[in-house]
Amino acid sequence: MDASSELRKLPKIDRLLDSDEAGRWVEREGRELVLGSLRLAVDEARLDVQQGLACPSEEAILARTRELLDLQTRPTLRPVINATGVVIHTNLGRAPLSEDALAAMARVARGYSNLEFDLLQGERGSRYAHCASLLAKLSGAEAALVVNNNAAAVMLALAALARGREAIVSRGQLVEIGGGFRIPDVMRESGASLVEVGTTNRTYARDFEAAITERTAALMVVHRSNFQMVGFTCDAGLDELAALSVARGLVLIDDLGSGTFLDTAPFGLAHEPTVQERVAAGADLVCFSGDKLLGGPQAGYLVGKRALIERLESFPLLRALRVDKATLAGIEATLRHYQRGEALSKVPVWRAISLGVDAAQARARAWMERLGQGGAHRDLQVVASESTVGGGSLPGLSLPTRVLSVGVKAPDEVARALRLGEPAVVGRIEEGRLVLDPRTVLPHEDDALIHAVQKVLTQHGVS
Ligand SMILES: *Cc1c(COP(=O)(O)O)cnc(C)c1O
Repeated sequence: MDASSELRKLPKIDRLLDSDEAGRWVEREGRELVLGSLRLAVDEARLDVQQGLACPSEEAILARTRELLDLQTRPTLRPVINATGVVIHTNLGRAPLSEDALAAMARVARGYSNLEFDLLQGERGSRYAHCASLLAKLSGAEAALVVNNNAAAVMLALAALARGREAIVSRGQLVEIGGGFRIPDVMRESGASLVEVGTTNRTYARDFEAAITERTAALMVVHRSNFQMVGFTCDAGLDELAALSVARGLVLIDDLGSGTFLDTAPFGLAHEPTVQERVAAGADLVCFSGDKLLGGPQAGYLVGKRALIERLESFPLLRALRVDKATLAGIEATLRHYQRGEALSKVPVWRAISLGVDAAQARARAWMERLGQGGAHRDLQVVASESTVGGGSLPGLSLPTRVLSVGVKAPDEVARALRLGEPAVVGRIEEGRLVLDPRTVLPHEDDALIHAVQKVLTQHGVS
């Protein structure tokens, strides 16, 4: 092919910009962005021609411009289909929300609300009143408070109750949660001094007792959310610490991490301590996340003694940790699912945890059939595998599942193409095969998943 005569066929930018299509894009996105995308598309076409290919048509260049424009204008934060089988995936936004929670958030966010207005009295109200009684009732606690996340809850509790004084904690519980978040660092930021007791593997109530001085304000317990300690180990019992803190006039703070109202044991997992159990065992304040096993919006919950919650409510730092109205609406709707006893069927995190092997098998099979249609000779199998709960809960444990396993020549490239697609899909690579786990793919995402995988497999020449 004669490259120079082909090069002359490249359309001029001005001409492309004058097209009806480009005119519509300019109206929406502005001239600057459209011009930039047109230049990129024409540059790509020029490279093609220099490689000896025919000059693409004007329509093809405009179609490519459209793609480039979409890439530049799509939101940086966007939906991802989670086919990893990790239910609470911190990097993928933790808990997806229930339909009721979403509807409640949209209703409150769209207009004005009684966020800080008492409709009965017609005067100023408190944002902290929302969700508090529901949360307290579900926990069996006297009172409750909602803040931005669990790190904020721990920080607030220590700052308000132990700043300038001492908080005693076991050496076996000085954990790093992830993202560089270390419990001892947060405790220090609160202005409380940390007193470590016991050893890495064994700490007794008497170690706490021996460390109490007139400067001690709190005893602190931290749940080992993301690792297991096995062998010759011992923790001080929460009931023993509760008795000790009552006897010595101290506050017992329990950082439960991924708090749950439901028992995880019926799903073949270990028993994760529930919020109700910890309150009943005598913790003065229990702190936990709203978007781990609770399955709601990002939040931190504090439940416990009324007098302590009241001190937190009047502590100035609270202002910096407060939650938005939409979040509060989402929390209330999520908590209602627990109150009504419908969390297993309505809260996506619990729907995923309670998904049985048969249901996983049926879904993986349906995906396999759809991807194998149209005479495509693909290497598709439904095989047994394991999902995990993730998100700093139930370390080392897994849920049996069935996955769709796809044989591909270059798994890393296929995984990358899936991540960069629209919508993005994140799966697992196991033994050189692409693995898609139905446990974490939401019911309404099936079509989009099949479409995205279909496209990438075709592009990568997998039939
Ligand atoms: C996850 C976790 C936190 C932090 O909770 P966020 O809601 O992410 O701030 C704190 N402590 C423990 C034990 C945790 O597992």
